[in-house]
Amino acid sequence: MLTLLRNAAELLSPRECVVCGAALLPGEKHLCTHCASDIPLTRYESRVLNPMADAFNARIQERIVRSGCPYEPYSYACALFFYEAESPYSQITKALKYHYNRPEGRFFAAMLGKRLASSPLYADVDAVVPVPLHWLRRWRRGYNQAEVIAEGVASALPGARLCPELLRRVGRTRSQARLSGAAQRSANVRGAFRAGMVDQRPGHILLVDDVFTTGATLGECHAALRSAFGPEVRISAATLGFVI
Ligand SMILES: [Zn+2]
Repeated sequence: MLTLLRNAAELLSPRECVVCGAALLPGEKHLCTHCASDIPLTRYESRVLNPMADAFNARIQERIVRSGCPYEPYSYACALFFYEAESPYSQITKALKYHYNRPEGRFFAAMLGKRLASSPLYADVDAVVPVPLHWLRRWRRGYNQAEVIAEGVASALPGARLCPELLRRVGRTRSQARLSGAAQRSANVRGAFRAGMVDQRPGHILLVDDVFTTGATLGECHAALRSAFGPEVRISAATLGFVI
């Protein structure tokens, strides 16, 4: 019943720009031409070194220091746009996460996927893994927003397939959005994920989430996957928003 209502809401939702709320013209989808031309793109997909990759690798290094793991290659990471809580562009991820707007999420996921597909860094990605949601939260929302994004990314990357089974959430955690400090966020998700089984061993895994804030969640996901796959398997990360 809930799913039926949500699907109806999606069909009946007015055609307006997700960012500024202006009525869309024929031919425009989810974004008006003005907001589309002003979207604060990170363009990180073409840069090995960028602030998001640095933050992601810092989380990975913290883990290595604790575990004493010998070698870890520098991970790639990129986001579609710079996320600021007060900016109207934050509606891009809020609409998907809180307003059940999956078509909008798919639209921006395809935009991210297209940019990743244009970069040689992500050309060999063969497994796209969404950050898993606890089953109870997934049941309440009806879907996992990270999976909606991962689906769009996987279908844009030639040679990649969606592999949600590669990662499981083993514990229920508090919503990261309600925690402010990096240490709090890190402690909240510690040990929350386990690597799952797959038939085909991946060569380059791309972890996908909606927003990169401190990197605590993606760092934990990386640690869980690294416990199952050696450093010959590259583990990268991609999100829609990168918090600045
Ligand atoms: Zn607009």
